[in-house]
Amino acid sequence: MRYHIWTVGCQMNQADSQKLAAGLDRLGWAEVGEPDEADLVVLNTCAIRDHAEQRAIGKLGALKKLRGRGAGFKIAVMGCMVGPKTEELERRFPFVDAFARPQQFAPIMEAIGHDDLGGEFWPETFTAPDSVTAYVPIVHGCDKFCAYCIVPYRRGRERSRTIADVRSEVEHLAARGVREVTLLGQTVEAYGHDLAEQPDLGDLLRELHELDGIARFRFLTSYPKDMTPRIIDAVAELPKVCEYFNIPVQSGDDAVLERMRRGYDIALYREKVALIRDRMPDAAITTDIIVGFCGETDAEFQHTLDLVEEVQFDKVHVAAYSPRPGTIAYRKLADDVPQETKLARLHAIEQAEAVISGRINGRLLGKDVEVLVEGLKPGPDGEPASFGRTRGNKLVHVPGEAHAGDLVAVRIERASPWSLGGTPAAAVAV
Ligand code: SAM
Ligand code: SF4
Repeated sequence: MRYHIWTVGCQMNQADSQKLAAGLDRLGWAEVGEPDEADLVVLNTCAIRDHAEQRAIGKLGALKKLRGRGAGFKIAVMGCMVGPKTEELERRFPFVDAFARPQQFAPIMEAIGHDDLGGEFWPETFTAPDSVTAYVPIVHGCDKFCAYCIVPYRRGRERSRTIADVRSEVEHLAARGVREVTLLGQTVEAYGHDLAEQPDLGDLLRELHELDGIARFRFLTSYPKDMTPRIIDAVAELPKVCEYFNIPVQSGDDAVLERMRRGYDIALYREKVALIRDRMPDAAITTDIIVGFCGETDAEFQHTLDLVEEVQFDKVHVAAYSPRPGTIAYRKLADDVPQETKLARLHAIEQAEAVISGRINGRLLGKDVEVLVEGLKPGPDGEPASFGRTRGNKLVHVPGEAHAGDLVAVRIERASPWSLGGTPAAAVAV
């Protein structure tokens, strides 16, 4: 039997898809690249913005045509489009065989005549991961309930995995050639508060750091208020943990942050950035921003633009506010910023950030940086070339066929806002 999984959305979704694939592999199923070659097609969906939902709906329209293949062919929808109640989805998409909430694979397994495989992880199932990098969720769900966000309604309350459980998964990944692990949580510093011994992310990093085989660790996504000096110390002290922080600020204006119910102000955000840069002056700091949130004035938006200039982020993920039915903002605030204003603000942030990241990347010219080689990507004329990432998560292209999983020192010779290029200088001992 053959399956095909289509995945959109965040890293957590990618990790969920890997896990489902591992479960299906265990049943002896084989993965195929096209839906029309498969006996089971799974769409792993995202609901964070309307655009993401529309992509999945478009995909479902195309799949409907395959329905004629008979009852043996199964279609499943999983991920953040699926809430606790599925009646509405069943009515809209009657040709779908199973709807599964994030990480709750039972309805999919039942649709193909199997029991739920259960458990967080099936270590024995992982064969050879197709990449030297892997995502490992450490805390599921989110308790923050930011006004604009659908995630807590779809992924539920925070649940941390035990250190032993995470450790076992990382050991299995290391044994199968994975060299870089990114620990995942919607607010990753929330890790551990619901466990009996209340370990924190720093404790987990220290424990994982001892494992052989893994050359690098990262973690995503940081919540400014929960970032503690203990966690920052762990990153600074542990050589395998990359000095890389994704800390969404969402807005540079205190009144907007309050309407968003983010639970911090810009003074606190600045404090956390200063703490990180004090310990690690070269740390890469990236952020997420929403423009055009309910009631955002020109002056409020200007504060966000000012913050982008002030902090000098390595990268900014910017999105126009998209009202999500069921959220607090959807129920209580008017989506009153015109679409063209949202787009103009989005482009203003993108333009400012291109100059800033171009400048930051330009400072690396002539320097040797550590790159973990991830794979091969031939150059424009077909010449052999490889790619990988720096500790700051910047994409680097290098000529020649380097070995995936190697850590190499690369002398940077080309820099743009989006990537770097250079020549391997030497192998780096791990
Ligand atoms: N937990 C993280 C945080 O605290 O920011 C990220 C969660 S969310 C999966 C990823 C990003 O999507 C957010 O940082 C936010 O910028 C964006 N986002 C969430 N809801 C949105 C909405 N309704 N409209 C536009 N962007 C949204
Ligand atoms: Fe959504 Fe806020 Fe939770 Fe991030 S912290 S997932 S933005 S509710």
